[in-house]
Amino acid sequence: APPPKYLTGNVAAINEFIDRFDVFLLDCDGVLWSGDHLFEGIVETLEMLRSRGKKVVFVTNNSTKSRPDYQKKLTSKGIPSDVEEIFASAYSSAIYISRILQLPAPKNKVFVIGESGIESELRTENVPFIGGTDPALRRDITPEDYDKMADGSMLDPDVGVVLAGLDFHINYLKLALGYQYLQRGAVFLVTNEDSTLPMNHTFFPGAGSISIPLVNMTGQKPTALGKPSQAMMDAIEGKFQLDRARTCMVGDRLNTDIQFGIEGGLGGTLAVLTGVSKKEQWEIEGAEIVPAFYVDALSDLRAAKN
Ligand code: PLP
Ligand code: CA
Repeated sequence: APPPKYLTGNVAAINEFIDRFDVFLLDCDGVLWSGDHLFEGIVETLEMLRSRGKKVVFVTNNSTKSRPDYQKKLTSKGIPSDVEEIFASAYSSAIYISRILQLPAPKNKVFVIGESGIESELRTENVPFIGGTDPALRRDITPEDYDKMADGSMLDPDVGVVLAGLDFHINYLKLALGYQYLQRGAVFLVTNEDSTLPMNHTFFPGAGSISIPLVNMTGQKPTALGKPSQAMMDAIEGKFQLDRARTCMVGDRLNTDIQFGIEGGLGGTLAVLTGVSKKEQWEIEGAEIVPAFYVDALSDLRAAKN
């Protein structure tokens, strides 16, 4: 791939870049903010894009929040948004289950490993589920559990899907239950495969690292519903009727965001250097994932005319 075009400080190149696209798919963490810290100039940058008639879609792998939760976060940062402009991995997982998988009842129940964002998106899509934040699963496994899993009496016969996202209370009991359902033929889905979660200038275990034990146990590759999975891109395309050639993916992580845009055949990808990936990663000989454009920070686009 040719080296990316560096836009920071180049007003003519920025204007040309913005004119090439109608839709900007914006990764959130590492692009708009880092954790709770909103980057400078982001509100104005989004206003500029909107004032030039661009559609923005917030595309995040964060599986812990529902779309209304995310909208609250955007609002609290001073970023106006419509809930319909938000595409988070809990939502893409829920609509994949309800609109694409469409398992016939009664065997359409989901065993959830994850937080409340997944539960509320499943509820909105009328998908039945168990597990998730159920406090009854926050305990050690017992000898009776082994017996009741082996004879099936502890298992819900209606479970047809195991969906795993980030779960802050992951334990042996939940992994054992998930594995039982998978051994009985449940469809294996994960919200996203991010190995790590960047926070407070260091890294913590990501959603992908919660599901890896189940991948190891089953030897199966789950369907992922977050970036870079094209199941998410197809869902976004279906919802917004976007023209891929006039759409740009903006992100900080090469192996999720930029890969997502490249694999999806989008008209462009823009990397920002305010998050996880460093430009040295694409500058090395034989680099596999190379963005089409890059800026130091998203707000560098503000140098463009309104
Ligand atoms: N997953 C979780 C749980 C997160 O909190 C975050 C960032 O806040 C992410 C994934 C990565 O999100 P994004 O795709 O917006 O970078
Ligand atoms: Ca990111």
